[in-house]
Amino acid sequence: MAHRDDVTRVLATCTACNSVYAARQWPDGEIKIIGQDGCSCGSTDFELVDDSADGTESDAG
Ligand SMILES: [Zn+2]
Repeated sequence: MAHRDDVTRVLATCTACNSVYAARQWPDGEIKIIGQDGCSCGSTDFELVDDSADGTESDAG
């Protein structure tokens, strides 16, 4: 198990506009993006991004 005080470097995506930011995930699950308080769209809600994906990805949706 990780130490209680360990933070993990992650990628996080804004739940409002899907912008992706470098972020830190705290042991309690809190995700905070690095360098600013929130997304440029004004949202402060972020979701963890699975960065294991490889290769190109189309923008379907
Ligand atoms: Zn946003």
